[in-house]
Amino acid sequence: MTSTENLQSDPWNAADTDRLRADTPACARLVHFNNAGASLPPAPVLKAVKDHLDLESEIGGYEAADRAETAVADFYPAIAALIGAHPHEIAFIENATRAWDMAFYSVPFRPGDRVITGRAEYVSNYVALLQMKARAGIEIDLVDDDESGQIDLKALEAAITPRTRLIALTHVPTFGGLVNPAEEVGAIARRHGILYLLDACQSAGQIALDVARIGCHMLSGTGRKYLRGPRGTGFLYVCDEVLEQLEPAFVDLESTQWLDAESYRLVDGARRFENWERFFAGQIGLARAARYALDIGPARLEARISGLAALLREELAKLPGAAVHDRGTHRCGIVTLTVEGEDPAQTKARLSAHGINTSVSTASSARIDLPRRGLDALLRASLHAYNTEEDIETFLKAVRDR
Ligand SMILES: *Cc1c(COP(=O)(O)O)cnc(C)c1O
Repeated sequence: MTSTENLQSDPWNAADTDRLRADTPACARLVHFNNAGASLPPAPVLKAVKDHLDLESEIGGYEAADRAETAVADFYPAIAALIGAHPHEIAFIENATRAWDMAFYSVPFRPGDRVITGRAEYVSNYVALLQMKARAGIEIDLVDDDESGQIDLKALEAAITPRTRLIALTHVPTFGGLVNPAEEVGAIARRHGILYLLDACQSAGQIALDVARIGCHMLSGTGRKYLRGPRGTGFLYVCDEVLEQLEPAFVDLESTQWLDAESYRLVDGARRFENWERFFAGQIGLARAARYALDIGPARLEARISGLAALLREELAKLPGAAVHDRGTHRCGIVTLTVEGEDPAQTKARLSAHGINTSVSTASSARIDLPRRGLDALLRASLHAYNTEEDIETFLKAVRDR
């Protein structure tokens, strides 16, 4: 599949929903609105992981890895197809945080170099920026949102200086339905020749991604969220163009060839950001999850997920006492709300008693966004394509009936 095919979309139909739900048996018992936390894996992903664990126990871990070589290797073309990259530009990394770190800490910063970021930035990314501010003397330029709540593109371009080394953007924040204008930021980054690192942890699997269109040089993602892969898996994309500008933050026997007492060389491509020991069953499972998403079609998933979330927001707007807090002109499957007179943790517990899974986003992981909006915590209902209009009704009824 080419990346343009990923962006085409046939209408969603009931048979699609039936197929997804048949592959996800827990759907019959649960209303799982915690897909931004960890989604329910489809049966083929679960089977791929379990089968490999079984094989490891039956013939040995090294022997199982040898036998499953093809399935392990499919990780690279599968993730590449999902984001419009080349297989050698993909690395398997144990989660999105470390994937992002491998890109970020590999930039050879000098004191006085500047990094531009926005208010949606993920907590772990932002604290890494703070660490490098203290340790390496970089400066952080925090760009404000525009009136719609997305990153202010004019302010972003105005923040660029000759010392700007990197733009670090979170595509979709963990704490809201906002979709940042990743492509427009990419155009600015390209125009000024600045490295661009996109955190696509919440968008991979729910939004059709094409790195060529976006124009990012590096992109990080996780397995367990909208991609429906196993926990403890993630990936990094690094485009060829910038590979030689980066010096991997860590090296080991996987990322290098040790030549002699004095030297080693980095392996080719993005695999120089990997490390040797890994969760093989997870790598196979994440490859399977990417294939599963490709088979349905990323653009079709995107339309389905954002359509369901829009319906939920519309219904919540009619509910007295409920307030929706998502921002931006383009919104995704993450819906954040508060219920008057109720702490979000209480709402979550109440819904949980009805078999409805949600989560709570707190200001402690959104220090540069939620507090200035006067928010301490939000209930996060994150929908996936296997959710239904009936799930939404069940959710609304449970929110209402206190
Ligand atoms: C969850 C999340 C991460 C971290 O992903 P892990 O796989 O847990 O490391 C990074 N960025 C965003 C926006 C996230 O929501």
